[in-house]
Amino acid sequence: ERLLDPTNKDSDESNGQNIRPHRLEDYIGQESLKSVLNIGIKAALGRQDPLDHLLLYGPPGLGKTTMSLILAEEMGVNCKITAAPALERPRDITGILVNLKPGDVLFIDEIHRLNRLTEELLYPAMEDYRLDITIGKGQAARTRSIPLPRFTLVGATTKVGSLTSPLRDRFGLIERLRFYEPEELALIIERTAKILEVSITQPGAMEIARRSRGTPRIANRLLRRVRDYQVVHKHQSITEGLAAESLDFYQVDPMGLDWTDRMILETMINNFNGGPVGLESVAASTGEDAKTIEDVYEPYLLQIGFLNRTHRGRMVTELAREHLIEN
Ligand code: ADP
Repeated sequence: ERLLDPTNKDSDESNGQNIRPHRLEDYIGQESLKSVLNIGIKAALGRQDPLDHLLLYGPPGLGKTTMSLILAEEMGVNCKITAAPALERPRDITGILVNLKPGDVLFIDEIHRLNRLTEELLYPAMEDYRLDITIGKGQAARTRSIPLPRFTLVGATTKVGSLTSPLRDRFGLIERLRFYEPEELALIIERTAKILEVSITQPGAMEIARRSRGTPRIANRLLRRVRDYQVVHKHQSITEGLAAESLDFYQVDPMGLDWTDRMILETMINNFNGGPVGLESVAASTGEDAKTIEDVYEPYLLQIGFLNRTHRGRMVTELAREHLIEN
């Protein structure tokens, strides 16, 4: 298991202790998203309407599912969670839609991966709360329309550019989630520590935050690993020094890079003179999958200014070179 993989959801909930915030006011950071949704919620509640369909996009682990659950809670409705890969057959989506209650939130993760049939069933469902289904085959085929309760679709994607325009156009709100600042992650870590009954100092939380790649899911996971280390080494509390020592032990460096990040950067420097180099060449010479590099490693390296993307390929920056020398 890769400690810094933002897509691995295993440790989102630990031993039944729910570390997800439940109300908008407990959701840390993403201020502009929160203010837009706050208005949307108040207006919808005032009109007694469901919320507009909402598309959330941004890297994994930043709080898209959490926000969808919060919206349902704030609206006083249920949230049904699913993901595009689970909606393979037309009856998968129709089964879900006909079972929604008025106002419910339907969360579809990885919505850019819906197949065409499922996507086309969603169009009238989103627009007119209507399900158009075809019964029978060939000459005898007939279409029937079934009314649906009014609901809110929350779509989540890491790749907003991969959505078809008819689908994208049916969302009333399209909002981006950003990587979190270390100060915000530190607040999330302190909040989780309280729930898990772990003692941590503010500088201790900051040290974990700096190594969490701007991602709450990773911050919470690193906190658990540091807690293990703290317990085994019998420390009272997680201080800055203990956090640094234990994350060094787990090979998470001071900027949150792990062995693979460093290997990718070093290969680009040693084999390609730091670039520009194409994604496929980086993949071939590191033995990593091109898609994994693009989706998992690269976004954070770009975010912290360790990589640049030019029209001629990827380039390692001076900042990255200095970091690799110093650490
Ligand atoms: P995504 O759906 O974008 O992949 P999730 O909503 O599943 O991400 O969030 C991953 C984890 O991070 C959850 O366990 C959640 O508790 C935590 N988390 C995400 N965003 C926040 C936030 N703004 N405040 C507090 N915790 C958060």
